[in-house]
Amino acid sequence: MGTSQQAKKFDPSRGVKYQYVIDEVTRAPVLLPRQDHKGVITGREVYLDSDGDHKGHTLLCPDCEQAFMTYVPESKRMGNIRVRGHFKISNRKDNPGHSEDCISELRGDPYSSREREFDYSKGPIIYMNSLAPEFNERASGRVSRGRNVFFEEDEKGILRFRPEYVDLADRESFSVKNAGDLFRVISRLPLERLQDAKIIYGSSVVSWDQFVIKNIQQRAGVGETKFSRFINLARDLFDGKFHPVLIHFNSHLHKPRLVTFDGETGQRVSLPRFRMDHNGRGVTVIPLVTVFGEEAKKDIREPGRKFVLGLPKEMRPVAGSHDRYFMIVDVYTDALVAGYDIETLRGLVGSKSQNGKGQSWDRASVDSGPH
Ligand SMILES: [Zn+2]
Repeated sequence: MGTSQQAKKFDPSRGVKYQYVIDEVTRAPVLLPRQDHKGVITGREVYLDSDGDHKGHTLLCPDCEQAFMTYVPESKRMGNIRVRGHFKISNRKDNPGHSEDCISELRGDPYSSREREFDYSKGPIIYMNSLAPEFNERASGRVSRGRNVFFEEDEKGILRFRPEYVDLADRESFSVKNAGDLFRVISRLPLERLQDAKIIYGSSVVSWDQFVIKNIQQRAGVGETKFSRFINLARDLFDGKFHPVLIHFNSHLHKPRLVTFDGETGQRVSLPRFRMDHNGRGVTVIPLVTVFGEEAKKDIREPGRKFVLGLPKEMRPVAGSHDRYFMIVDVYTDALVAGYDIETLRGLVGSKSQNGKGQSWDRASVDSGPH
């Protein structure tokens, strides 16, 4: 570990300002002192009491439970801008700092635009805005951008969520760049919060159900495959709604094959076709997931469970057919493809959340609602 990283860890002007930490002695979440909370708080109950219950206790980063944290009271600085009370990393000499896989670096700054306390009973916002450049090229013109999409400025210049997005205002936020970042967040969230997550890319906001698209038999030995999420995704694409998805499939069951377009070679997986209604008639859809990155091509050839973080491109009519469409998902960046073996997946979800026991990925991604 280089000195620059050490410097970053203990730079008091940087890093996430937390609203709660973990008490090393009780292992319970501790909120800011009561006077620092302006609104209603749900999902957490214990307030920091430095002279009482928490006297002499070390406070830990809520994301890795390793780094030592400290409480910073409300202050004014830089042109009288009020900085609310918060927890930040402590400059104690024996501070081990954040763990390698700590998700603190993926967190949004809760004090940039928030007027409300977080509601920890809600799922978080997962921003995909910083995702691979390939997303941004493909999306140009199809999603709106900029802070005006979600925010409006009040007379004091403070950004507030527009009324139609007020449900987003009290959610924690993370910003992920690749599949690995996403799985780090997944491992920290309890199942019920994960299923309530909102995934934001540009102007699109989708629920977990719309984001995780899988083609896995519900139980080993049971041959029924469910397509409801694929059908919903196809509807979104037919309607011109454009959003990222995490496609999950087993490359042991759906073997990739080599394809070449415009001199570029990719490994393509053809997922099971399904039927749906479109414009009042039945059509057949064939999902095609193609990866072009060198590492991803190797990875996807290894049999096993694969996750592809992609931005589906279009529903392309099959040449010479009037009722068949390809659903096109092309992925160029290696880091958007991840493979996990079944042992790793078992117990992955929420395995690092407070008091969390691992919950299986299949439970977290299970289809809900009518099929
Ligand atoms: Zn940490």
